[in-house]
Amino acid sequence: MGHDGSTALKRGSSPFSAAALSTTARSRALPRGRQIKKTFNNVKITLLCGFVTILVLRGTIGIGSLTGSSSDDAEVRRIAEETNRILAEIRSDSDPTDADEPPESETNPNATYSLGPKISNWDQERKLWLGQNPQFPNYINGKARVLLVTGSPPKPCDNPIGDHYLLKSIKNKIDYCRIHGIEIVYNLAHLDKELAGYWAKLPLIRRLMLSHPEVEWIWWMDSDALFTDMVFEIPLSKYNDYNMVIHGYPDLLFEQKSWIALNTGSFLFRNCQWSLDLLDAWAPMGPKGPIREEAGKILTANLKGRPAFEADDQSALIYLLISKKDQWMNKVYVENSYFLHGYWAGLVDRYEEMMEKYHPGLGDERWPFVTHFVGCKPCGSYGDYAVDRCLKSMERAFNFADNQVLNLYGFSHRGLLSPKIRRIRNETTTPLEFVDQFDIRHSQLKGRH
Ligand code: UDP
Ligand code: MN
Repeated sequence: MGHDGSTALKRGSSPFSAAALSTTARSRALPRGRQIKKTFNNVKITLLCGFVTILVLRGTIGIGSLTGSSSDDAEVRRIAEETNRILAEIRSDSDPTDADEPPESETNPNATYSLGPKISNWDQERKLWLGQNPQFPNYINGKARVLLVTGSPPKPCDNPIGDHYLLKSIKNKIDYCRIHGIEIVYNLAHLDKELAGYWAKLPLIRRLMLSHPEVEWIWWMDSDALFTDMVFEIPLSKYNDYNMVIHGYPDLLFEQKSWIALNTGSFLFRNCQWSLDLLDAWAPMGPKGPIREEAGKILTANLKGRPAFEADDQSALIYLLISKKDQWMNKVYVENSYFLHGYWAGLVDRYEEMMEKYHPGLGDERWPFVTHFVGCKPCGSYGDYAVDRCLKSMERAFNFADNQVLNLYGFSHRGLLSPKIRRIRNETTTPLEFVDQFDIRHSQLKGRH
């Protein structure tokens, strides 16, 4: 597949990357603009709360009660007021319990940031633990134990539709994991305040490795990435000699030094010392504030196509792997034979064509394993693409995947944009034939034998 590294699209690693570099720069390069808008939003919420309060007071003790306004109206208003109050409270940064806590120490800009105490004998410790805990094996029937990890910010999205798509996204992941016997973790906490935002995955992955020695592979997946092939399975045995698997293109990485050579929206780490070391080497550009800002300048100066903005986890990983190639690359598998990450803009418009010509289980451009909504920011307010285009595309991807799940139950979405479903076959008095025919798990077992 050909790919042009000069068409830089924010964190999309796809030959289809044809869009907006300038809007990319805007969205991440102007945090101050964002702050002003946030403050403005907070003021709006406060005003709204005030307004609702006046309405409610009017409704309960004022003109409303005199003119006999129905108690239903008052109840609706009361609920609206309560909702707004709670939203404003959880969105605000003030926490009544904060006052009792000692202030957290600021990161020293001169010391190299660390994810935690240096661990140097994890492989031996883990091996010992696995030996002592045979009830928690890292391989079950020859299959490595995999933990899929995803998450989203601790606070509600800027817009309720964002939360709706977070729900759809986790529903999609639960389905995939249930079908394939993969465990799943959803995280809403910033385990390390310094590594908020897209950096939050680093301390989380480390913590999960150390807390779940029984897990062989930790698989990070962004909240804006959806499984679109419910049948395809990662060919883990292909990576027996590797510790990290990530989607990307070696020539974009080492020849072009492109900032979209790899994508950190979906990747796997083996639970081992090497991975802990890589996380340690990856994290130092992450602390928010001056460190992240300064590191962003280094990344922009060194990576092709990168707009000016603070250091992000993806650029930092690319930079690390390019600059310390000999140290790391022998254990990193750069995968592009299927879409471990697939850039949405080149895929979502082709789902009908795929359904016509192909079938799930292929995982590549014929039936993409993962469709990732890079740059859409469904939970925030400042994506690089038009909101309606993003939401429509996410809806299509979700329903495209959901059809593969509903198939076993005899239903299908009325269209890729419709949340409504229709029956696709008649009920039967011998339902087990459908199980044999349509359960993905069954067809997969058959395929393996
Ligand atoms: N994320 C998180 N906690 C946060 C912010 C982000 O867990 O406070 C995760 C979330 O899953 C998100 C991912 O980090 O999908 C990366 O950010 P995003 O997808 O917005 O970046 P993009 O893929 O557009 O570059
Ligand atoms: Mn993403």
